[in-house]
Amino acid sequence: MNDPKKSQYASVSYPFPVEEPPVIYCPLCGSPTFDQAEGGDMVINPCQHLAFVFLGRPSGFIYQSKDFQSKTLEKDLKDVTTKEMKGFIETLGYDNRLLALEVTYGDMGDAENWYIDVYGFDYNTYC
Ligand SMILES: [Zn+2]
Repeated sequence: MNDPKKSQYASVSYPFPVEEPPVIYCPLCGSPTFDQAEGGDMVINPCQHLAFVFLGRPSGFIYQSKDFQSKTLEKDLKDVTTKEMKGFIETLGYDNRLLALEVTYGDMGDAENWYIDVYGFDYNTYC
């Protein structure tokens, strides 16, 4: 049995290569975390369960819920990397009500590129 005091962390990889970054769906309500805006750009589409979105490319945390912001007030988010993410989220006090989904995917640009993004879903917002 998993430690009820630890946030849950799952890692998945998409088959190489992907045409577009994969759209991750909320495991609680099924909402896509990103939607396509007019003109084709992808824009964040946070449901009530989405705690954060961390893009492994230089962007860092591109979305934070109000609750996530309050839990990270004393933290320096600029220093967090995907490698440290699992340990970092365990310090935030979500216990096992947070599921972090680490998504690895690659594309073929001028060379083979790999990306790791992390999505946090807060199961405490379910009731
Ligand atoms: Zn949701």
